Amino acid sequence: MSYIGRFAPSPSGPLHFGSLIAALGSYFQAKSQQGKWLVRIEDLDPPREMSGASDLILRTLEAYQLHWDGEVVYQSQRHALYQNQIDQWLTTGQAYYCQCTRKQIKETGGFYSGLCRDKKLAPDGQQAIRLRMTHPIYQFHDEKHGELLIPKPLANEDFIIKRRDGLFAYNLAVVLDDIDQNITEVVRGADLIEPTGRQISLYQMLNKSPVSYLHLPLALDENGHKLSKQNHAEAIDNSAPIPALLDAMQFLGFKLEADMDNASVEEIITWGIHNWCLSQLPDTTEITPRFSNRAR
Ligand code: GLU
Repeated sequence: MSYIGRFAPSPSGPLHFGSLIAALGSYFQAKSQQGKWLVRIEDLDPPREMSGASDLILRTLEAYQLHWDGEVVYQSQRHALYQNQIDQWLTTGQAYYCQCTRKQIKETGGFYSGLCRDKKLAPDGQQAIRLRMTHPIYQFHDEKHGELLIPKPLANEDFIIKRRDGLFAYNLAVVLDDIDQNITEVVRGADLIEPTGRQISLYQMLNKSPVSYLHLPLALDENGHKLSKQNHAEAIDNSAPIPALLDAMQFLGFKLEADMDNASVEEIITWGIHNWCLSQLPDTTEITPRFSNRAR
């Protein structure tokens, strides 16, 4: 089976150094295996989105010479796929309406205990929809980190597939899309190790063959926080991509050659495809990047 990977940014802001790591890592992993690399814009949560961010992200990928295969897919145009699956599960009783509030769940230990599971609540427009957890996953294999454990209460939880505000849950959309797009491997930041168990559960409940997973080290700021759009991480530069590109490649463990500052973006990316290997990737899941003195 040929390799199909993807990069799936949420358009909550422009790409920053942390998202460049995910873009580059997934791109090199796909292209070093003559695979396809798809881009999917995860615009599932309009209140958290920044207008114009989707286009900005695509322009940034182009500036860094990360060319995707096929058409860009937008989750906002795929609600029917998600809703159809939910409707099927509601019909079979595998999914159910839940009226418990976040506060109630917090008071009962932070994990959902299944209070509404057998209540057969009729929809009233105010409830979340949960999935009965019939295939909990306590452990999975990561291509870099080996066996990773998922805490039991998290793995056993009947998690939300549609929120009470009517938005589709990330775990559901990501798995239905990865299946629909025939993705063979998911490469992304280590902040998404935890939801991976739920995602594998979904593959099992849908009777689909699982994908492989590779979680890349997460870039932290000097205070130890994840670089993220929510923390207002600085956007990477589209007009002068080489400094951030080389810093990101160093972060991914490449042994850069001395004269690379003078190469073109395209030459650096091509060199990266040929020199990518998982054994040089740092073992830790979290790292504070040491930025070079390259002009940024
Ligand atoms: N949309 C997610 C994010 O930007 C990534 C989803 C994934 O790679 O599975 O954090």
